[in-house]
Amino acid sequence: MTIFKDIIDGKVPCDKVFENESVIAFKDIAPQAPIHLLIVPKKEIKNLQSLPSEDMPLLGEVIKVAQQLAKEFDIQEGYRLLTNNGSLAGQTVFHLHFHLLGGRRLNDGLA
Ligand code: AMP
Repeated sequence: MTIFKDIIDGKVPCDKVFENESVIAFKDIAPQAPIHLLIVPKKEIKNLQSLPSEDMPLLGEVIKVAQQLAKEFDIQEGYRLLTNNGSLAGQTVFHLHFHLLGGRRLNDGLA
């Protein structure tokens, strides 16, 4: 059980920007860019490495939502979509999610 599960279940409020039956997206509480959204498959999956092959279609869903939100938030010319897998990579919430970052020139390099 994670904070994101509570958000999905409506027990914890969020600044929601998208929801359908399989994915929810909301604003990150500690934004690292002018636009910082989290795109979260509702199914409880710990991280990318734990994604079972039958759930791979969820990644397509996430990308579709990212494209739509990038348009909506007017960052389609430059954004980053990323996931942190494991604490060594900076993962702090162990429910699969993708950061959609944009709204300024993003730093060179990935790490
Ligand atoms: P990660 O470090 O990749 O696991 O990302 C977790 C992200 O969740 C961080 O960027 C946090 O700022 C964000 N976060 C944690 N709690 C909340 C919350 N209640 N609402 C929105 N974002 C949150």
